[in-house]
Amino acid sequence: MSIERRVRTRFAPSPTGPLHLGGVRTALYCWLFAKKNGGDFLLRIEDTDQERFVPGAEEYIIESLNWAGLHYDEGPGVGGPHGPYRQSERKPIYRKYVDQLLTAGHAYYAFDTKQELDDMRERMTKAGMVSPKYDHVTREYMKNSLTLSKDEVDARLAAGEPYVVRIKIPRNEEIRLHDIIRGWVSVRSNELDDKVLFKSDGMPTYHMANVVDDYLMNISHVIRGEEWLPSAPTHVLLYKYLGWEDQMPQFAHLPLILKPEGNGKLSKRDGDRLGFPVFSLNWTDPFSGETSSGYREAGYLPDAYINILVMLGWHPTDNKELFTKDELIEAFSLERVSKSGAKFDPEKAKWYNHQYLKMTDNAILAEAFLPQLKDQGIEINLEYVQNVCGLIKEKATFMKDFWSLSSYFFKKPEHYDEKVIEKKWDAEASLFLSALINIFSTLTDFKSESAHKGFEEAAVSLNLKSGNYMQLFRVVVSGQASGPSIWDMVALIGKDEIVNRLQLAMQLYGK
Ligand code: GLU
Repeated sequence: MSIERRVRTRFAPSPTGPLHLGGVRTALYCWLFAKKNGGDFLLRIEDTDQERFVPGAEEYIIESLNWAGLHYDEGPGVGGPHGPYRQSERKPIYRKYVDQLLTAGHAYYAFDTKQELDDMRERMTKAGMVSPKYDHVTREYMKNSLTLSKDEVDARLAAGEPYVVRIKIPRNEEIRLHDIIRGWVSVRSNELDDKVLFKSDGMPTYHMANVVDDYLMNISHVIRGEEWLPSAPTHVLLYKYLGWEDQMPQFAHLPLILKPEGNGKLSKRDGDRLGFPVFSLNWTDPFSGETSSGYREAGYLPDAYINILVMLGWHPTDNKELFTKDELIEAFSLERVSKSGAKFDPEKAKWYNHQYLKMTDNAILAEAFLPQLKDQGIEINLEYVQNVCGLIKEKATFMKDFWSLSSYFFKKPEHYDEKVIEKKWDAEASLFLSALINIFSTLTDFKSESAHKGFEEAAVSLNLKSGNYMQLFRVVVSGQASGPSIWDMVALIGKDEIVNRLQLAMQLYGK
């Protein structure tokens, strides 16, 4: 009888800086896969490398996940049955497993100094080796428990000499692993180096801690970036040597996110160069003081951000582009994640945000718009603001565009599109606008249709073509040559104010 394994995924970032959008995509795929399968999504902070620790990075990671709505079921601050979820707090756990590997002969002590390691690399390079490493060949010539006598090893350990523990990669073996996205991956063991697993300060390295924790936390699927694929064969060996083959998670290595031009990995520099954020939230580097922009502060909506990210590597079965989170949970599968890198398109990212703004309820938009109005000294009833939002959201990419797109709903235009005025305002236009003032003034029920009808009547009365004055009329009312549906806009601004604006323009430009 085979018992289905509960799906448990983890996002396991190292707190070495802000979260690149590729990291959030990894978290998103882990989250989606867990939700899709009714499983658990964990956050584990991999902070064993104290030298790379950056203050504030963990808080940043957590805030980014929360902002994106990727809430974890177990992790720092949330807890869970497999905690602690910060590797630095798990320090006492790992030694036992390192000892197990040492005893079984799958790992060994190495005492080489940095100088000795550099000398070895230099010697090997001179001998024609392309990328020399500590491996099944070179370990024979180094200072380790494979070459030193047991007495000497014991003496060095007793004297407190610094050491590392390395995995003993076997010679001439083929290591195979199945990746859900890439299929079978096969590596010759001779190509691998004897990675450091543990250091004499009692801290495991990434490889050791990662495997031990995935096992202890009962992780069923390791979903992570393609840059970790070269480490996977070593991890497979560790599962085997620790006797955990039955519990080995399935692997899925996600494709790279590429520069907009498509060549090479998307970097912060591409964002700076082309003017888009590569991080989730604004970040100030605590050492250099350098600041980087984030999607949140740039005005992206969290759901739009999720939709942008999910499409970087995953494709639905149809051409659908907009997905709610629930729809994504329904549609997502790792089988539909591609092997090849996904080009990041900053214009498409904006398009997504525009689509999400359009779909957002006017009441929510109005609430978000109020602070901008307050900054402009405008106090007005909420219903009016909601109606304005309903009209202009079609034109907005970001919330911050709202004021410039809609200021004329709240006050007279300060500038007019002079090109339109110059081109369209002639003597007949003056006649037409005067007639319009008269007709509008008499209207008792000023709505979209009646205003439109009045406009047509003004033209007919002068034997003019109404279409010739439409854009001019828009500029007179709003100052701008384009905007939302003119009759809805006019009706919302209201008869008295429209008549006022027509009169004002006549004073300025009338012929
Ligand atoms: N700590 C690794 C990172 O920073 C985790 C890689 C993995 O998921 O195994 O990305």
